[in-house]
Amino acid sequence: QNGTIKLYKELRCPLDDFELVLWSSGSRGKSYPLCPYCYNHPPFRDMKKGMGCNECTHPSCQHSLSMLGIGQCVECESGVLVLDPTSGPKWKVACNKCNVVAHCFENAHRVRVSADTCSVCEAALLDVDFNKAKSPLPGDETQHMGCVFCDPVFQELVELKHAASCHPMHRSGPGRRQGRGRGRARRPPGKPNPRRPKDKMSALAAYFV
Ligand SMILES: [Zn+2]
Ligand SMILES: [Zn+2]
Ligand SMILES: [Zn+2]
Ligand SMILES: [Zn+2]
Repeated sequence: QNGTIKLYKELRCPLDDFELVLWSSGSRGKSYPLCPYCYNHPPFRDMKKGMGCNECTHPSCQHSLSMLGIGQCVECESGVLVLDPTSGPKWKVACNKCNVVAHCFENAHRVRVSADTCSVCEAALLDVDFNKAKSPLPGDETQHMGCVFCDPVFQELVELKHAASCHPMHRSGPGRRQGRGRGRARRPPGKPNPRRPKDKMSALAAYFV
């Protein structure tokens, strides 16, 4: 489709030994590796034609969703936020279904998705090595591991979550008042999905830096 394709460091797919290519929608968009063979011949039952490594369910391939996936997308239902391993030093995390792209950890040396998960939200923890001169950590620390959604250090550094938590519409959980209507459904018939008010689009626009 629209986008550019280039060879990806001569890395190969572990399933078929094809050389991976890097698909990119431009420097402001997202990019992910894909295997030309798997793209046309989905390797696993739960995959469809046309999927890249960011939707690949290979359990141990270092380019797959299983290794780079972080957690559920904040905007769409089925998407997973996936680290773009090629995006450094302006690191990006992008949804593998919708257009959400979050910029994070600018100038970090290295960002890895850890095998550990957050005890609160179950997202995969990120292990980040910051640049010594530009580390946001206290003292001389340059390394930090935490959840992009819950860790107070990371929250400051991830635009997506920052924007989302500032917007009252995205807030949910115990702080929110519910059930004032005593169970009377207020949804007008014929509008099955009132979850996406117009204003959400303007909130979304703020994410696309
Ligand atoms: Zn392949
Ligand atoms: Zn793979
Ligand atoms: Zn999404
Ligand atoms: Zn968390």
